[in-house]
Amino acid sequence: MTGNSEFAGCIALVTGAAAGIGASAARWLDAQGIGELVLVDIDRPALDRLGLSCKVHPFGGDVTDPSLWKLLEREVPRIDYAVLNAGIASNGEITDLDITAWRKTLSVNLDGMFLSLRTALRAMKRANRGAVVLTASVSGIKAAAGTAAYSASKAATIQLAKVAAAEAARYGVRVNAIAPGGVDTGIWDRAEWFAPLIEQHGGRAEALAAMAKDATPLGRFASADEVAAQIGFLLSDAAATITGTCLVSDGGVSL
Ligand code: NAD
Repeated sequence: MTGNSEFAGCIALVTGAAAGIGASAARWLDAQGIGELVLVDIDRPALDRLGLSCKVHPFGGDVTDPSLWKLLEREVPRIDYAVLNAGIASNGEITDLDITAWRKTLSVNLDGMFLSLRTALRAMKRANRGAVVLTASVSGIKAAAGTAAYSASKAATIQLAKVAAAEAARYGVRVNAIAPGGVDTGIWDRAEWFAPLIEQHGGRAEALAAMAKDATPLGRFASADEVAAQIGFLLSDAAATITGTCLVSDGGVSL
């Protein structure tokens, strides 16, 4: 075991763990010597490719499916830490947005967050201990045209974390949110408008760098590993007096 022994022998839940920030959070916890990881992602095969050294319980499924959470509650005895992170991006001006697209974003980003949070808090309430981080976004704080569904889901996530913190404090559980700005993950590659930008700038890295330069005072996006370490800080004893906060990690975007 390497790293921080406070995680030794503990069980952590990570959603959206197959890629991006969630995969980095799983690796960070693994490197700290976590005992077991309960990993949830709709992309089940990718969970098997993470190459983690601790014991892993992979759950392939959709975070919006209540039966997934029922199964997980039956099979997982304890949850000491939770990184609730599964999410999707979406775009569209309100006047063009149809209800199906709106519901899809709110369903994954908010219903999924509620269901996973409920499962984590039920387990932590029984043990009278635990720490949770919900991945929100700077879009939940700062408005930008064309992001109504995503921004609404992320603003609600920040408030959900605060309400959860208010409820869970009495049973010794901390709940915080993190609001990243741009992070270099595959989420961008799924956006329709990104491929033309790659062509325009002559490469994926160049397109991300140009976007970051335009929008971010610090001039660059974060890596998934950087955000995972910040999530790790919020989970750790170093953040023992921090609950109900939203850690903004946006390179200054929201200034
Ligand atoms: P990503 O696409 O790399 O990873 C998201 C993971 O979630 C994927 O493995 C995907 O399969 C999984 N997932 C998606 N829908 C799911 C569902 N319904 N059920 C189960 N799993 C599902 O994206 P990422 O950038 O790592 O995003 C992680 C979180 O960070 C999201 O909540 C996102 O909104 C947030 N975020 C990302 C950025 C960014 O710039 N990348 C910025 C701010 C916030």
